[in-house]
Amino acid sequence: MYGTSPGKQAGPPTGPAPWPKRPGAKPSTPWRRKVFREHLGLQRAGLAIGIDIGGTKVAAGVVDTDGQILSEARRSTPGSDPRAVEQVIVELVAELGADHRIRSVGIGAAGWMDLDGGTVLFSPHLAWRNEPLRANLQRLLRRPIFLTNDADAAAWAEWRFGAGQGEERLVCITLGTGIGGAMVLDGRVERGRFGVAGEFGHQIIMPGGHRCECGNRGCWEQYASGNALGREARILAAANSPVAQELLAAVGGRPDRITGAIVTELALAGDAACRELLDEVGEWLGLGLANLAAALDPGLFVIGGGLCSAGDLLVEPARKAFARNLTGRGFRPAAGIELAALGPNAGLIGAADLSRVSRRLRR
Ligand SMILES: [Zn+2]
Repeated sequence: MYGTSPGKQAGPPTGPAPWPKRPGAKPSTPWRRKVFREHLGLQRAGLAIGIDIGGTKVAAGVVDTDGQILSEARRSTPGSDPRAVEQVIVELVAELGADHRIRSVGIGAAGWMDLDGGTVLFSPHLAWRNEPLRANLQRLLRRPIFLTNDADAAAWAEWRFGAGQGEERLVCITLGTGIGGAMVLDGRVERGRFGVAGEFGHQIIMPGGHRCECGNRGCWEQYASGNALGREARILAAANSPVAQELLAAVGGRPDRITGAIVTELALAGDAACRELLDEVGEWLGLGLANLAAALDPGLFVIGGGLCSAGDLLVEPARKAFARNLTGRGFRPAAGIELAALGPNAGLIGAADLSRVSRRLRR
């Protein structure tokens, strides 16, 4: 159907990996996990600044111990130059720190951090490649710095203050242009053996399917993200189907201008074709969640990100598809699927809170 036989995926990149083969000292043991938990000071007082670095904007806020944002500041992301991004962080901390006594600074960015939390191994939107960001910022800011993946930060915020409170095994999915993923298990962010867990968006759900940025074909995020919604709507509109007339009218007859956000807006306003498109994306979402439940058995999935503005139009079909595809359905308890509670600020709230409570990781 898509021109490539099932299972034929592009191979991994060749050449030496830019990080050590075995980061960290020893494998995790129950004793080491206990030590980790003891380093969490969930009741630790003081204000922290959280900074969420996105592809287009850098959002920052002063966050208190209840996860409330006391003041906010924003800048455009200054291209991809690592030094310019550091400078923007310094400016934001100076601006927000002028009126508040700040204990620490947490930085959340898309990408892979090493397990120690000192180095950005790779960031898709920025030019960070093996960048010792924490050391650079500590030198510039002279404050404790905590560096984390943006999806991990958002999951932590939902677990501490949002829709995931009280859940021992929480999986968070962020639906934006792609799919971000993160887990909070037994009160800690689970990052895997090498620090790069949670790339759920790249589980292959349709062998030989749509090509993904990661190089493979048929990844989940090609079927259950905002980008997927926009692509399917453009295909429908380009086919000049009578059901897509309202959609075409909304973009002045130009299918190439259709985005996932426009489809969501029309669906909420009652357009039947756009509701159908969201229904399909919701079904793919539920199917992927059933796969994750088979592997991880969480108590709750929290779904956040821009696509969530569709609300029940997205989540209801996801719940149905999840129930239909869940391994052992009917003979086991099933995880709940709920919308995130904290909105687009979850990343900066989580980064700030982690910088305050996770002393071990901000040395
Ligand atoms: Zn992929």
